[in-house]
Amino acid sequence: MTFDQLHIVPSILKALKEKNYSEPTSIQQKAIPIVLNRQDVLASAQTGTGKTAAFALPIIQLIHKIESKSDGPAKLRSLIVTPTRELAIQIADNIDFYSKYTKVRHAVIFGGVKQHHQVQKLKKGVHILVATPGRLLDLINQGFISLDDIKIFVLDEADRMLDMGFIHDINKLLQILPQKRQSLFFSATMPDNIVRLSSKILTNPSKIEVSAVSSAADTVKQYLYYTNRLSKKDLLLHILRTENIDRVLLFSRTKHGADRIVRNLKKQKIKAAAIHGDKAQNQRQKVLKEFKQGQIHVLVATDIAARGIDIDKLKYVINYDIPNIAETYVHRIGRSGRAGENGIAISLCEPEENAYIKDIEKLIDQKIKRISDHPFPQTDKPMTAAEKKEWQKEKQRRKQEFFAHRKKKRMY
Ligand code: AMP
Repeated sequence: MTFDQLHIVPSILKALKEKNYSEPTSIQQKAIPIVLNRQDVLASAQTGTGKTAAFALPIIQLIHKIESKSDGPAKLRSLIVTPTRELAIQIADNIDFYSKYTKVRHAVIFGGVKQHHQVQKLKKGVHILVATPGRLLDLINQGFISLDDIKIFVLDEADRMLDMGFIHDINKLLQILPQKRQSLFFSATMPDNIVRLSSKILTNPSKIEVSAVSSAADTVKQYLYYTNRLSKKDLLLHILRTENIDRVLLFSRTKHGADRIVRNLKKQKIKAAAIHGDKAQNQRQKVLKEFKQGQIHVLVATDIAARGIDIDKLKYVINYDIPNIAETYVHRIGRSGRAGENGIAISLCEPEENAYIKDIEKLIDQKIKRISDHPFPQTDKPMTAAEKKEWQKEKQRRKQEFFAHRKKKRMY
């Protein structure tokens, strides 16, 4: 199958050729004809499957066709809402590339920066707007954006959107959006609350599933190392060295943890940097750029910051801790093995996290391969008093986080 066979117009094909996309991915093959046919879509797809192009290409094409006949000022015809600014920037970068030989104009807006440049861009007129929910509603309230002409609405990463507490913002948006519109709904996982939300947004959607709900990407090989809390940092060094890993996205559950890991790696002369919510936007962009260019070898990220990080051919993901919410594991390992590339996900598990592995294996319905041949295996050495105290605190934090997650899920 080629993009030509999907009836993509030559001006977009030219850009795809420059990007070396030789063949549409599975989700693109399924979604593009449906979107071009003006139908709603309910897609269960993880990051890395090529889902951005699956909605962006047909949207650009539909608008391009209208615009090539129109001379009037640009009308905002498509709205793409996504949970994080990194993801918003990433989607906008892709649209920028795919639409370079068309007349389609777009803008991206997100919070955490001054609104002036975003407003200036909007004033010049755009056809596609990529936005995070808070800044979008803010600029609508200030009268800088009107959704009256929206024909295509995309809700991207819907599950993460709810996890981040954006449900009220989404409900407000639904009240403002025109009733008559085409809607595309993307989510990595499809628990009940997401299905309920999708039914409020979509009309007779075509359902697309590129990998089974909650399944881990097939292209990712998963390995599990059992170890102790105190030996994790040594085990990490051992793995980085023996596996010759020079580029890895490493997950830490907390911001403090992320900073601590970076400090430890730097002491060993390993080039590492953290990316999390406490870092300023421009700092995060700088770190990402350096990682992409290979100046930083280990990028340590928290779950929220990692959403939307788009790095071509990211082979390795390491879970420095095991997430207590099994779906988070699926999100994390989805960062490797992108668009048909092989990926490797390595998890380091301390005794207190053993139970989480059971949950994860239940969710993904497979057993993760254990690697026992390493110098830092789990032992039942009792914890020192200081470790016990620290672990009690950590347990409390995890419990609160788990219940907050459950509460959010029940709200819908
Ligand atoms: P996404 O799931 O949208 O985040 O895309 C994952 C990665 O796959 C991005 O780096 C895209 O540039 C890349 N990609 C998307 N579609 C294709 C394709 N048809 N061929 C090769 N790479 C692609």
